[in-house]
Amino acid sequence: MKKRGLVWFKNDLRIQDNETLWKAIDENEEVICVYCFDDEMLEEVYPGIKKMGPFRLQFLRESLEQLDKNLRRLGSGLMILSGKPENTIAESVQQYNIETVYTQYEPAPEELATLNKVKDRLEEISVPVKTFVTDTLLDYQKLPFTAEKLPDIFTEFRKKAEKAEACIAPLPAPERIASPEIPPFVFPVTDTESEKIYNKRPAHRWRGGEDEGLRRMHYYYSESGLISSYKETRNGLLGEDYSSKFSPWLSIGCVSPRTLYAELKAYEQQKGANESTYWLYFELLWREYFRLLFYKYPVQFFWKKGIKPFAPKTRFHAETFEKWKTGNTGNAFIDANMRELNLTGFMSNRGRQNVASYLCHNLHIDFRYGAAYFEERLIDFDVYNNWGNWAYVAGVGNDPRPNRIFNIEKQADMYDSEGLFSGYWMEKSID
Ligand SMILES: Cc1cc2nc3c(=O)[nH]c(=O)nc-3n(C[C@H](O)[C@H](O)[C@H](O)COP(=O)(O)OP(=O)(O)OC[C@H]3O[C@@H](n4cnc5c(N)ncnc54)[C@H](O)[C@@H]3O)c2cc1C
Repeated sequence: MKKRGLVWFKNDLRIQDNETLWKAIDENEEVICVYCFDDEMLEEVYPGIKKMGPFRLQFLRESLEQLDKNLRRLGSGLMILSGKPENTIAESVQQYNIETVYTQYEPAPEELATLNKVKDRLEEISVPVKTFVTDTLLDYQKLPFTAEKLPDIFTEFRKKAEKAEACIAPLPAPERIASPEIPPFVFPVTDTESEKIYNKRPAHRWRGGEDEGLRRMHYYYSESGLISSYKETRNGLLGEDYSSKFSPWLSIGCVSPRTLYAELKAYEQQKGANESTYWLYFELLWREYFRLLFYKYPVQFFWKKGIKPFAPKTRFHAETFEKWKTGNTGNAFIDANMRELNLTGFMSNRGRQNVASYLCHNLHIDFRYGAAYFEERLIDFDVYNNWGNWAYVAGVGNDPRPNRIFNIEKQADMYDSEGLFSGYWMEKSID
């Protein structure tokens, strides 16, 4: 009987720079690739808020379809397992006589709990689970501090991280994967409504998948050269090109930060480095920081008081929250941003900061409702970036400046002085 390994894909939906996949190929004669889809993802977590909304669902489906195609090109394919991973993986392990399971390590609490359930279940049948941290840029072993000693201020972290030269080089895609025959790809959710509204998006018509993510990277770097003016444009609000828009693909791992960084360095070699090229690296370090924080504060970003000793005086008020959610607060700048989110699954960083600040500090709503709503709607939802940024804006995270509140009128004047952005989104709808 052939020695077989099973790769359990999670937020690493790619064949390039995938250490987990490589390890399974290296250590086995045959490899089976699976993704687990648990229907719980579509259930409500708060009244009226689901864990995964239609845009994220559709982006995920496209990313999985593309992963399946790319795996089939290499001689394998992707099997979608429907149900709880601890059950479905255990069943596949037995069905295919798997000796070892390989998967991504994610430090967020729900993800860890799921991993531990799978590990416990497989331990009963003596099948080990090997994990790999594949969604980071930095090699944590090279950082001059342990997780407990991670600085609470980003700038301190950044300086130390930059000095450590800890960036990891990406791995190539494998050339072939030996695999038993994999049944044709079937996505378990037939939700035509998602597809319909997704295809009618009035802007940001990106598709999920590794090829699409890499295409965006090449476009943003060498094809357009937009990266060379990123620092000046990154606070923009309208259109697809004011910032990289790497986040949708980064968040479910269609593209790795290591690939983005290596290509950035190659671009700098060819076209020259400047403040803008550095600034993309700087933002990737923010992403890194929010990930590392979960090793230090494993559950605190889901608490009302975050990492602080006391919770802010916020509450939940259904009617007020509904107005914020639907873009009907009466403040055009806030409403336009929320409408963009509702119609496309995306919002700029500037918009996110403003609507989050407005919800917490003007409407006095508990930040966790806003974060949960973003989790449902954003196609680039990333547990670390979302909850870490929300806690930061709410004043219960890693912002060293106390009582930072965005002056929405001033922000609208600065970033949308002619009202072009507000005007654009206040008129749009999906019919
Ligand atoms: C309240 C709030 C919620 C957010 N939720 C998410 C989320 O769920 N998923 C997500 O990926 N980002 C989130 N962000 C961070 C940021 O807004 C997005 O990463 C960014 O807007 C994505 O667009 P881009 O790829 O064009 O970014 P660019 O400006 O081109 O930046 C390149 C990359 O750097 C990283 N990055 C940029 N800004 C930040 C930041 N503030 N924090 C962490 N990483 C950053 C992202 O990976 C991004 O793709 C949130 C920010 C706020 C204020």
